[in-house]
Amino acid sequence: MAKVNTVLGPISPDQLGITLMHEHIVYGYAGWYADDTIAPFDREAVVKTSLDTMEELKTYGVKSFVDATPNDSGRDVTLLKEVSEKSGMSIICATGLYNEAEGAPAYFKFRSTIPVFDVVNEIQEMFVKEITQGIGTTGVKAGVIKVGTGHGCISAYEERVLKAAARASKETGVPIITHTEAGTMGPEQADVLISEGADPKRIMIGHAGGSADLKYHTAILERGVYLAFDRLGIDMPPAMSDSMRKGCIIGLIALGYANSIMLSHDSIVRWLGRPVEQLLTLMMPNWHPRHIFKNIIPALKGAGVSNEQVKMIMEENPRRLFAGE
Ligand SMILES: [Zn+2]
Repeated sequence: MAKVNTVLGPISPDQLGITLMHEHIVYGYAGWYADDTIAPFDREAVVKTSLDTMEELKTYGVKSFVDATPNDSGRDVTLLKEVSEKSGMSIICATGLYNEAEGAPAYFKFRSTIPVFDVVNEIQEMFVKEITQGIGTTGVKAGVIKVGTGHGCISAYEERVLKAAARASKETGVPIITHTEAGTMGPEQADVLISEGADPKRIMIGHAGGSADLKYHTAILERGVYLAFDRLGIDMPPAMSDSMRKGCIIGLIALGYANSIMLSHDSIVRWLGRPVEQLLTLMMPNWHPRHIFKNIIPALKGAGVSNEQVKMIMEENPRRLFAGE
């Protein structure tokens, strides 16, 4: 029987309920720490804002929140633990490495220049230890593996990370969730992960809404993996538009894929470094983790999507991803 590692300990997949599969409480682009003289981290304020967010989500029936922040992007599991304890929200944290362009690849790229080091093995060891024994000395165990690739190619560094993730998922049964860039490399990601031994039913290819091409989406789904429209609210037409995403989601449901789709926002409660939240809210007023419940689900229902299909997407599919069904 599969267990889900939350930041407060294991639960059964049946206990997940309505789940947001890709969000962030804190996130920082690698290098934010260089600016912390100017922009120090106010932990107390972040906890307070996070608790407000969790209270709002609970009013929509959300029970579980996957924090997709990888190790090199400001992951703070003791903060997630405090927010989970005080809010009652099940929070699942990640082990993982972000893509080469936006993460912090220098360390493992350096190690891969030394022939005696097997970097895929080293990264796998790190992922597995954070899943089975815990992250640092916190005792918190990771419940998902987060990896990513860049625009239009998978770099040598990213391929090592994908292979390590596949092997760690195979070893532990913990699912893999991914970042794709601008609607590219989704099928290729799935191929690398599956060929390295990951179970397609434990893979969620992310950021599908970076493309509005149903052929791209179905090419990914045909590989037997889950597909996530997990940047809803990042509405910047024409490249990334919620109206095209809604069209794609409705189209894929009509094609029979309701059992393979996930929805989330990739929202960030607090950016590390200098504040950008207010400016981003002005630019993208729907980029907050209530958007799906306030705007997207009503639009889907208006287009004929049933309550059962919404429940499948928001509750049943996350359960099955963690259960490996
Ligand atoms: Zn993200």
